[in-house]
Amino acid sequence: MSDLYNATVLSVRYPQKNLMIFRVKPDKKIPPFKPGQYFTLGLGYWEPRILGSGTEVLKEGQETRLCKRPYSLSDPILMDSKLIKSDTEWLEFYVALVEPSEDNPAPALTPRLFCLKGGERIFISEKAMGHYTLDLLDGVFPKQLLFASTGTGEAPHNAMIRWLLLNGYKGKILNVTCSRRQGDHCYLEVHQELEKMFLGYRALALSTREAKQKKLYIQDLIAENLLKDMVDFELDPESTHVFLCGNPAMVGAPKKNRESGQWEWAISGGVVEMLVKKGFVVDEPKKHGNIHFENYW
Ligand SMILES: Cc1cc2nc3c(=O)[nH]c(=O)nc-3n(C[C@H](O)[C@H](O)[C@H](O)COP(=O)(O)OP(=O)(O)OC[C@H]3O[C@@H](n4cnc5c(N)ncnc54)[C@H](O)[C@@H]3O)c2cc1C
Repeated sequence: MSDLYNATVLSVRYPQKNLMIFRVKPDKKIPPFKPGQYFTLGLGYWEPRILGSGTEVLKEGQETRLCKRPYSLSDPILMDSKLIKSDTEWLEFYVALVEPSEDNPAPALTPRLFCLKGGERIFISEKAMGHYTLDLLDGVFPKQLLFASTGTGEAPHNAMIRWLLLNGYKGKILNVTCSRRQGDHCYLEVHQELEKMFLGYRALALSTREAKQKKLYIQDLIAENLLKDMVDFELDPESTHVFLCGNPAMVGAPKKNRESGQWEWAISGGVVEMLVKKGFVVDEPKKHGNIHFENYW
């Protein structure tokens, strides 16, 4: 069954017990990809699961199959305090361990990924996929870019940010990440280095469960107009594009009512709704606006 694997895990780091950063080298040449895209990763249902990840009951025949899920390509951005200039021979991923819950008593893939060690084998899709890329800007780079993510949702933004800085983007970049605890911002040191290297780059790491820090969600920054005071960033739809990735409750993706042509929100109070009220425009399949988003579930 190991012939279902086509890549080697080169290195694995666990910056927190529920967060991992790992690098994968496909057996074949790395296929072309755009920053922001994702690959499918997979491990066999026969592989071990981390302790405490629930009791899984496999369906008939599943024990010989691969469990596959999409993962955005992340990016270390810097190496030896310099922007990484060339393509690497590996692909970096940033993954959160999904805990068992009442609705999902035995999450399938992440408990297996969290058993991985360097040198072990894995499945990776032959192609990169997804439309959450800088192509959504239609070739016109705005004066300001806001990247906002929850948890590991910062992965695709890291890849886009390296591309922008490497290709001489001169506007402002504000990168807001939101996690439960400060220690969960696993790329924080990189973002702090970038702030020193690039005048237009700012990073904000929000925490929602840190005793000594004010609990702040991305939605709070917008609802309370905090960005101007905190980081001198004016949320102006004329000059700004916003990229949102991660928890669907933060994103708050809308659906268009076909009869009225109006946007409707299944989850109210998300960032998309707040931005639309400020004059931002949501992406539609054939007409890009200045709000771009990707939900992780
Ligand atoms: C386009 C795309 C890109 C993605 N990229 C990443 C990535 O780079 N890093 C990453 O960690 N995840 C990413 N995900 C989520 C990933 O594909 C899996 O859904 C996740 O790892 C859970 O897999 P599982 O088999 O362990 O859980 P499953 O048994 O499939 O359970 C899925 C459930 O777990 C919960 N869940 C899923 N993702 C998370 C999460 N990140 N944090 C908390 N709860 C979650 C949701 O309730 C979801 O319904 C991405 C998803 C999509 C659609």
